[in-house]
Order: sequence, then structure tokens, then C-alpha cells
Amino acid sequence: MAVRTVLLYPDPRLRLHAVEVTRFDAELERLAEDMIETMYDQGGIGLAATQIGARESLLVLDVSEDRHGSRTFVNPVIVACEGRLTSEEGCLSIPDVRERVERSARVKVAARDVRGEPFTVEAEGLLAVCLQHEIDHLAGRLFIDRLSPLKRERLRKHYLASRRGAERTAVQG
Ligand code: ZN
Repeated sequence: MAVRTVLLYPDPRLRLHAVEVTRFDAELERLAEDMIETMYDQGGIGLAATQIGARESLLVLDVSEDRHGSRTFVNPVIVACEGRLTSEEGCLSIPDVRERVERSARVKVAARDVRGEPFTVEAEGLLAVCLQHEIDHLAGRLFIDRLSPLKRERLRKHYLASRRGAERTAVQG
């Protein structure tokens, strides 16, 4: 297993749409393992393949308290949703930005495991939010896209200015 580099906004690869997985082989399993390791290394609760520059429709997550409950979803699709829920979200690809986002309160997701076995999950609360956030990534969407245009633009400017500051600091040592 290996920790992969997480792409940072505004990397254009974060806007690519994932491609449906048709081969369930050792390579896919390795990618999923790398993603789980990367998610833990970065302290995230979810990671989509898009975030490490891979095109597979694949996400991993772990919303458990003890961080021993990682789950892998291949070709995930939301097949039903219900209710509304607003909660604060962050993203490994947009460090230090946290905003309240409205999503469905409950979702039913159909997916396959790394061996290609189909399964469905009915989720609510944090798991529902995490699934929607990661499935958005696989469609090239970021959580800031769900904010009002004014708020998004203000955030974007602030974020880009602070990234430039971080780079300058890094160069200066
Ligand atoms: Zn994210």
C-alpha cells in the first residue's frame, strides 16, 4: 500500500468525470487500498479516486469512531433520496475551508465491492453526507459548488490568496 498525493483545488483534474469500472482485478484492489491508506494518512473520512488523479468510479470512506470501519464503493449511484440536512463540510482537496452545505438527509446508494459484488446501502446522518460529498467528486463536483455564487467567489479568492501565501512561506523555508 502507498499514500498517494491528494490533488488540491483548483487542480483541473478535480473537474473530470469518473469512468465506470468494468474490470474488478488486483489493480483495482490495490487502488482501493492506497486510497484507504491515503484517507487515514490525511485524517479524512472519505476519499474519491478523482482526488488522487485516478479516473475509476471508486470511493472509500470511514465514518466510524475507531477508524477501523473503512468501506469501498465502486460505481456508486444514488438511487433514492429523502429529506434535507445542513451540516458543516470540509474537503481534503480544499484545505482549511469549512462551510455549511445542504444535502439530502437520507440516501440509498447502489454500488459494487472491489470484487464486483453488487450491494446497496441506506444511509443517514454523517454517512449520507459523506457518500453524497464523495459521489459529487466522481462527477467532478466540489462541495463549494453547492454554496451561493457570492459566498463561493468570496471563499475562492480568500482560499487562493492564502495558498499563494503558503507557497511563498514554503519557498522561504
Ligand atoms: Zn472532498
